[in-house]
Order: sequence, then C-alpha cells, then structure tokens
Amino acid sequence: MDIQIILDHVNSVYTDKDTVSGKVLLETATPIDISTIAVRLSGIAISRLNGKRSSEVHKILRRTQVVFPPKQQLDSALGQKFTLRSGTHEFPFSITFPHFAECFKLDPHEDDLAASCARVRLSKRLPSVHLLRRLPPSTGTSNDIAEVKYSVNVVIKKPGLFKGTMKMSRDIFLNPLSEPTSQQEPVFQQQQQQPITIDPEISNFSSAPSFLLSVQLLNGSSLLQTLPLPLRITLTKQTTFTCPAILKNFQTMVVEHTHTDVNNSPSYHRQCWIVQTMSNMHEVVGDPDAPAGAELNLSNALWSSRPLPPKLVSSFETCKIKRSYELRLKVRFQFGELPKVRF
Ligand SMILES: [Zn+2]
Repeated sequence: MDIQIILDHVNSVYTDKDTVSGKVLLETATPIDISTIAVRLSGIAISRLNGKRSSEVHKILRRTQVVFPPKQQLDSALGQKFTLRSGTHEFPFSITFPHFAECFKLDPHEDDLAASCARVRLSKRLPSVHLLRRLPPSTGTSNDIAEVKYSVNVVIKKPGLFKGTMKMSRDIFLNPLSEPTSQQEPVFQQQQQQPITIDPEISNFSSAPSFLLSVQLLNGSSLLQTLPLPLRITLTKQTTFTCPAILKNFQTMVVEHTHTDVNNSPSYHRQCWIVQTMSNMHEVVGDPDAPAGAELNLSNALWSSRPLPPKLVSSFETCKIKRSYELRLKVRFQFGELPKVRF
C-alpha cells in the first residue's frame, strides 16, 4: 500500500490565516480493511538547553479531521471495518490554522482515533503552564535551542487480526502575517539620538563643530521582511561652521535574541544578521555652508535596496521560547576634507 499527501499549496508555505487543504492518496494492489483514516495538522515548539540534551516539548497545534469513514457514518462506525477495493483512493481534507497556540487543549484524537469516534476525552497529562499567543513561525533545526515545526500527518487504523496503525507525515512551513503596527508608539521608542562634538584642537577649527545624530524608525519598532529598513537618519548642526560632513562607513545589523526555558533552566542564544555593510565611502551629507540648526539628511538610497535577510522570522513568544530582535546601526563620519598628499 502506498500513501501520499498531496497539498493544494505547492510550496508548503502558509500564513496563519490559511487553510491547509489537499488530499490523501491511497494506492493498494489488493483489497484492504480500514477502520479510520485521519489527517492531523500538528505543530510543536521545542526548547533546548544550550549544549545539553535536555528539552521541553509543547504541542502548540493538534487539529484532526477524520476523512474516512464519511462524517455521517462516523458515530456508528466505532469498531467497524471497511474494505477498500484495489486501486487508487482519494480522501480530501481541509484544516484551518487556529488564531492562537492550542497546547492547553486536550486533543480527543491524540492516541486513539477509535476513541475519538465515541467522543471519549483522554486524561493525558501535559505540561501545565502554557502561553495563549499567536502561533509562532517555523524556525530552527534539531541543533538549535529553539525549534518550531509544523506537519501534516495521516494516520490509518487497520482492524482485525492485522490490527495496527500506518502513519505518513509531511512537513509544512508557517510564516504568520505581520500584526498592524501601533501608531501610538512613544517617540522615544522610534528614535535614538547621539550628540557628536569634535575637539577644535584636533580638528583645527576655531570653534567646536557639533552635530546631533538622529536615527528614526518611520514605522515604529516594526520591520517588514520584504521591505527596506524604514530609516530616517539626520545630522542636525548644533553650531555654525563650514566643514563638510562626509559619510565613510555605513552598516546595519539585526541582532536576534532567543530565550528558552527547559524545566525552569533558562538558556539564551544570540545571532547577528548583517543587512548591509558599506566602507571607504565618500558621501558628503547636506550643504557644508548650512547654518546652525540645519538638518542634513542621509540619502535613503543608501539602504532602500536592502531588505532584511530572508532567513529571519518574525518576533514571537510561545511556550518556553521567546524571540526578539534589535536593530544596530554603525556609521562613521569624517568632518572636513583631509589634506591631499603629494609625492
Ligand atoms: Zn504549551
């Protein structure tokens, strides 16, 4: 007997607003007896201790649809067997993602699909503390301290002398839609300022050139994966002087922070993702003769063609795993032209 899971989404990538639909293809060369065929949409969040084998698993999604026997026969079909003739059989399914992680729920189909037909609730003990949050994105591998993975599973139960269970699984990927950004976010969360003052003895100017470097996130503290960084970078002249401000280096980096907890033992992992690095530049910022108080803007052409790295997933918090990000900007300016060297 051959079992296949055919998904309607060819690339197996879903958002949390999607429905996972498709069909189970069952091909058999001889007639077979079947009790039930069920499709389960599963998701698990695994937190691991850094460098150790200890882990904690939360079943954040377990939604099951019995696709055979038909729904109208399901209640009376407990313990019955059905014979499928030789050939290819198709069983369509359709399961929608929930709005929130559901590991606080008990799944009546968890261990025994036959029991589910009689609507018997199981009393299996699960980890007792769960978070009611949006489903997290697929992320990580078995080597990481945090892993979230989703799959579609088929469970076929056979009755009688050859009683047993056949299973088939196929991985899918969840990339939840971004939540709308808050327009009410305080300005201090959207903007960072750094004063820059050049010692006149070093710079050889009569008065100390002074700037205020201001970096602003135009959409609040949210970044969208496929779009360039919504940055506004400004140098505000604090004093009157005429030397040019020249941008020499420019780098943007996203720092990923992952916190996990395994049976009350916390673990932490940090990873840096370079978005863009430019060096040995000679970009004059604004008009060198601008008066004090003038704002000199860096051109957004510098970063507008650089979206975030595609492997980044959205920030999330689920049972025992929290992922957040920090944007770091490094800039280096030169004030005034360096004297030309002649040989
Ligand atoms: Zn949980």
